[in-house]
Amino acid sequence: MRDTVFMQIALAQARASADAGEVPVGAVVVKDGQVIATGRNAPVGGNDPTAHAEIVALRAAAQVLGNYRLEGCELYVTLEPCAMCSGAMLHARLARVVYGAADPKTGVAGSVLNLFSSVQLNHQTVVQGGVLADECSAVLQAFFQRKREEKTRQKSALYPLREDALRTPEQRFADLDGYPWAPHYLADLPSLAGLRMHYLDEGPRDAPLTYLCLHGNPAWSYLYRKMIPVFLAAGHRVVAPDLIGFGKSDKPKKESAHRFTWHRQTLLELVTRLDLRNIVLVVQDWGGRLGLTLPQAAPGRYAGLLVMNTTLGTGDTTLSPGFVAWREMCAKNPEFDIARLLARGNPQLTSREAAAYMAPFPDRGYRAATRAFPAMVPEQADADGAAISREARLFWQEHWSGQTLMAIGVQDPVLGPPVMEVLHRSIRNCPEPLRLEGAGHFVQELGEPVARAAIAYFLPSLTPTIGAQCSNE
Ligand SMILES: [Zn+2]
Repeated sequence: MRDTVFMQIALAQARASADAGEVPVGAVVVKDGQVIATGRNAPVGGNDPTAHAEIVALRAAAQVLGNYRLEGCELYVTLEPCAMCSGAMLHARLARVVYGAADPKTGVAGSVLNLFSSVQLNHQTVVQGGVLADECSAVLQAFFQRKREEKTRQKSALYPLREDALRTPEQRFADLDGYPWAPHYLADLPSLAGLRMHYLDEGPRDAPLTYLCLHGNPAWSYLYRKMIPVFLAAGHRVVAPDLIGFGKSDKPKKESAHRFTWHRQTLLELVTRLDLRNIVLVVQDWGGRLGLTLPQAAPGRYAGLLVMNTTLGTGDTTLSPGFVAWREMCAKNPEFDIARLLARGNPQLTSREAAAYMAPFPDRGYRAATRAFPAMVPEQADADGAAISREARLFWQEHWSGQTLMAIGVQDPVLGPPVMEVLHRSIRNCPEPLRLEGAGHFVQELGEPVARAAIAYFLPSLTPTIGAQCSNE
């Protein structure tokens, strides 16, 4: 009872610290049942590394008593004391120290170590922890929570959200399985006009190769979580953007915002802005429809191609029956369940992993891209993106001098073996593909062996020398 009364006074000091923007820790010194001094944490405001609550309280108490020895005094502090403060308490010959919350990082009254139990150092001071521990730690937790929120607010102030777009709340992406990487953002590429594009950027800037991993509809960079660690472990860099409208990137509200050539332009500008070189282009689905049109713009930047179930939308060939069926399904059921789609094609996925594919889309308002993309595939020769895709086909047939590795998810009804055989014929010097009998459309979900094959296959020394006839960057 007596202890909680004095700890409440220390807590009031802690709250005053928080109000001043300091980590909230408070202390009081008690003699003969009376508070003779208080102290609160203030190292930031005072530019003073020693201005911990306990030191402040000890100094004040010593002034009151006119004695640097605080014989018979008790000190109450809301957080387990650090080594500095514990040292000062021992010098002051306190009778008793009472603290609230334990501090597993810097506490030396039992957490990290226990200075008070050392007979060589301590002859006088009794220590007791856990008084009002929950309240004491709640004050600290609330403070750090506010700090984190403030930081998030500051960050989004750097990238104001356009009125015609939505931004998926950050907490939708908290604690996703197998996706530990820090976000990177760009909003000042000319084609983005303020839309915030998210990308992963891991591994050394001067890595021998940069794996540029492009996802399709309705996926996002989460799709590459099984392959990224393999690339990184081999010492390479990985850049994996989320297309606008997907993942952690901003999402235009209107479907009409999504245009083939515009998406292509955002990717071209991303590659230039990050100045990516020795790129191994990793593509699947729309990652390939768009990505396969990138190297012709700057062939010198690309060393290799790792191509999984995808195709070029040249507008002069018949669309595969599987794709037409998919497009019809999307038109009839535009808010189709993405997690279920993923789970159905990938029985090894946990329900948490499948749900992670839904994280970018809290409701239908966020899904303009997943509605727009199926109809965006160039069907006629004059469709947006068709001409550039025909140029791409010519580039891969006649001018590509990098290495190619093709991996086919055999179970894919949309962009499976028949479609990939056509693409295979369109890529110069494309060796026999790897066939993954168990893999479906989302090959990356079984992508670990594909990534390992890539590591062995793409050798940094074999960068291409092509460039003269095709470069228009
Ligand atoms: Zn301290």
